Amino acid sequence: MSTASVLTGALFIDLGEGREDKGTGRIRWSRPPRARYECLRCGTTEGPVTGARDVAAFVATIRTTHPTRCTTTHEGARAA
Ligand SMILES: [Zn+2]
Repeated sequence: MSTASVLTGALFIDLGEGREDKGTGRIRWSRPPRARYECLRCGTTEGPVTGARDVAAFVATIRTTHPTRCTTTHEGARAA
């Protein structure tokens, strides 16, 4: 476990259930992937987003995009 990063939010990822269609090579989702992010600082929930592509993009960017709109950045930061 890493202790280097500060936990500021919780990322929930549901990989869903899908099976590759042998004929088309595409995945048929019986339960599509979804993801959501809950910020522990401002209490905002982002998402959920659904779909493999959207989930991948969301997971890759949310930790950098949320802080740009996190409402607690206006509060006085707790100095170390
Ligand atoms: Zn926030």
